Amino acid sequence: MSFGSIEAGGTKFVCALGDEDGQIVKRVTFPTTTPDETMKQVFEFFDSYHLKAIGIGSFGPIDVNPSSQTYGYIKNTPKRSWAHYNFVGAMKSRYEIPIGWSTDVNIAALSEAMNGAGAGLKSVLYLTVGTGIGGGAVVDGRILEGFSHPEMGHIKVESHPRDGFQGLCPFHHNCLEGMAAGPTIEARLKQKGNEIDPNHEVWSFLAHYLAQALYAYTVVLSSDIIILGGGVMKSGQLLSKVKKELVERIADYVEIPPIDKYVGLPALGDDTGITGGLLLAIQEYEKVG
Ligand code: ZN
Repeated sequence: MSFGSIEAGGTKFVCALGDEDGQIVKRVTFPTTTPDETMKQVFEFFDSYHLKAIGIGSFGPIDVNPSSQTYGYIKNTPKRSWAHYNFVGAMKSRYEIPIGWSTDVNIAALSEAMNGAGAGLKSVLYLTVGTGIGGGAVVDGRILEGFSHPEMGHIKVESHPRDGFQGLCPFHHNCLEGMAAGPTIEARLKQKGNEIDPNHEVWSFLAHYLAQALYAYTVVLSSDIIILGGGVMKSGQLLSKVKKELVERIADYVEIPPIDKYVGLPALGDDTGITGGLLLAIQEYEKVG
């Protein structure tokens, strides 16, 4: 059986063909331009296959509420030609098969939960710390959504006493993404994260914000594991700083799993997202059946 997967990012699209085990058989990558141009390439790729279902993980914000009039749409994104684009509608009008639909971070979370660092665990939280910050939770193999998808990157954090930075989020003062995403490093220091000394104090600032967020996720969700992905997490000692500060914050209030098991990096590499799309397609196929 063949399944399709789309990892729709703000700068590039990855489309893949895979099997019922979630293994990728073939893939193509092309830049995200306009819906007309980009979807033409999507169709060119998938038209030659007989697929059982396709899973999409899209940049957002997107409408994931099945009872909404605009389910399947990309919402008010800064990528203007994609704002209010009916992505699932376009796919459904071309392919009369089940279409799974979620965010790019949620399909990465699904992938890590099923095949990666969270394999075998009941409840998995995945947070990506990169150009933006976003999180997804998977419980019993299902992506957690409600009226919408979570916006875990936008919880409020308290400033580090020595960090005078005002934040980059246009919507919130002192939200996690605005204070700790990759672009905040360059905005503070006029240098990119990978050029900065691992001992620079900026990493303590980022750890301070991330640990606050992880504390909140811990008391709200009690996931079995928190997986920290994204380019910023590859920097120096950030992960160990986050773990240390999280342990201090939790103190003994909640008995979390051993910290090195509780907070860690993803186990899957660059295929995380596109594999998650395949897993979502398989789930959608089994659901519709
Ligand atoms: Zn925000």
